[in-house]
Amino acid sequence: PVSIFWFRRDLRLHDNAGLYHALRSGLPVLPIFIFDTDILDTLPDRQDRRLQFIHDALTGMQQKLVAMGSTLQVFHCSPLDAFRALVTQHSIRAVYANHDHEPSAIRRDSDVAAFLHTLGISFHTFKDQTIFERSEVLKDNGEPYTVYTPYSRRWKERLNDFYLRSYPTEKYFGNLLRCAPYPIPSLQQIGFLPAPYHAVPPALDAGIAATYDTTRDLPAINGTTRLGVHLRFGTVSVRQMALQAQHLNPILLNELIWREFYMAILWHFPHVVNGSFKKEYDNIQWRNNEQEFALWCKGETGYPIVDAGMRELNETGHMHNRVRMIVASFLTKDLLIDWRWGEAYFAEKLLDYDLAANNGNWQWAAGCGCDAAPYFRVFNPHLQTQKFDPRMEYVERWVPEYDQLTYARPIVQHDMARERCLRVYKAALGAV
Ligand code: FAD
Repeated sequence: PVSIFWFRRDLRLHDNAGLYHALRSGLPVLPIFIFDTDILDTLPDRQDRRLQFIHDALTGMQQKLVAMGSTLQVFHCSPLDAFRALVTQHSIRAVYANHDHEPSAIRRDSDVAAFLHTLGISFHTFKDQTIFERSEVLKDNGEPYTVYTPYSRRWKERLNDFYLRSYPTEKYFGNLLRCAPYPIPSLQQIGFLPAPYHAVPPALDAGIAATYDTTRDLPAINGTTRLGVHLRFGTVSVRQMALQAQHLNPILLNELIWREFYMAILWHFPHVVNGSFKKEYDNIQWRNNEQEFALWCKGETGYPIVDAGMRELNETGHMHNRVRMIVASFLTKDLLIDWRWGEAYFAEKLLDYDLAANNGNWQWAAGCGCDAAPYFRVFNPHLQTQKFDPRMEYVERWVPEYDQLTYARPIVQHDMARERCLRVYKAALGAV
């Protein structure tokens, strides 16, 4: 008999909670990964950087596993079909995995658990992608927080060394199943094309972390960690990163807390997936002009900082956080386009796309989220540029023609758009 460890958003062998528990269970452990056709079939683009990233991470783990006489078994089908196949190939006693809190993942896991249960196979899952999850950080009265600052205060009060301790999986690698390696299907075999991306090593750069508080808002410089994608797919351990951030720069730790805050919001208020956190904001009469949306997507709005951000996103799969805030404000407030359109576009393009963070930040920008800035605070793209890209270096990099006649004329005049936005929001929100 064997135990299975199922990798999902935790693609690393070190400091992995679920893998650690599987290895300690006493049975040989077969690690698996499933290219889930229920997800892959919905992706609009056959060239997807996320798939390439996952494939690279699996290849890296496979090298290490094979060197230890073990292997990863990779499937390309629905999770239920993968387990139907696995139970015919191995005598499985238990399946281990780490928690995944997205609503579709919760449904997936409950279907898999039910299937395994009918065969007498247990399914064990563990906290791994956050320091605190679900209801671990609550108000005194047991309710979830909906405002970041008190949430982060309570989060820090609860923190102690225990929560940052690594799971020493390496001590138990001897319990990996010994067997001949299974081949990993190529990207082409699972229906995708190679999609190059800018790779950042899966480790916190101490220099960047040390100056993070002063550099993080300047898109022209390399002043943020770029670890978003690694946190998303678990190629870095959040425990190790939080431990380093705690020592190197508390402002960076705050950002990791924002990540957990939005995950907690999604957990406690799953209606945010489709609707505004503040329900009255669903009354907003969006203009939803499709032509303007297309220009925003392409980075041809005539606003250099907005266009620079969208072009960076389209070309690299990344956009600097400050610029994400500017383009999101521009879409929702200046163009009055439903935040869900922007959210969906980011979901398609971002290498570090994460449902909770993307949804929470889009709702923040549109003003309809928990703890959002008041709706009447509308970003002025010119002032934002003066403040955060004063020498136009970032703009120049992505929109080199910004000061030439060939450059697009602004698709909307900001002052007029701001007034229009305030009118429309006010009408939707009544007397607010
Ligand atoms: P750093 O500045 O180095 O921060 C370190 C880590 O902290 C990040 O990797 C991320 O995990 C976390 N973090 C930082 N800021 C935030 C934040 N505001 N909310 C949640 N977590 C944060 N982040 C995503 O991970 N996935 C998304 O899909 C996503 N969509 C966004 C959409 C909009 C409209 C906006 C305004 C922000 C979005 N963010 C998202 C948050 C933030 O922009 C990215 O996490 C950050 O830019 C990633 O770059 P970095 O790794 O260099 O971040």
